[in-house]
Amino acid sequence: MSEPIDAVIEGGCLCGAVRYRVTGEPKYRVMCHCESCRRAAGSPVVAWVTFEPANFAFTKGQPVSYRSSPPVTRTFCGTCGTPLTYVRVDRPDDVDLTTASLDRPGDFPPVAHLWMEDALPWVRFGDELPVFQRSPSAE
Ligand SMILES: [Zn+2]
Ligand SMILES: [Zn+2]
Repeated sequence: MSEPIDAVIEGGCLCGAVRYRVTGEPKYRVMCHCESCRRAAGSPVVAWVTFEPANFAFTKGQPVSYRSSPPVTRTFCGTCGTPLTYVRVDRPDDVDLTTASLDRPGDFPPVAHLWMEDALPWVRFGDELPVFQRSPSAE
């Protein structure tokens, strides 16, 4: 059974120091292969799910913020390091959450691969999802 769209979606970091809550329907669900996400997460690919910032709040603890490029602020748990959010100043209506920090990431499958121009040659999915050399808006 699928959750009602107004269900509360929760997530948090590995150690439990930082928790968050969001409502509403995700706007985007993607996997990002860019070098910046790769280094920020220490992971070959990072899955993201995007919501309205007005519907998102941290409910326990506060993450550490890091400005990974002039327009981009990433947050992560200062204790265990789990990457949590990505916000761009030129995308004020979006907050991206790391899909893998959700309590139920299986409910939010990605629908595309972005930034394939940075993708590692040994990462192969075979999922037949659309691929973009950068982001869809940049092509
Ligand atoms: Zn933590
Ligand atoms: Zn990225």
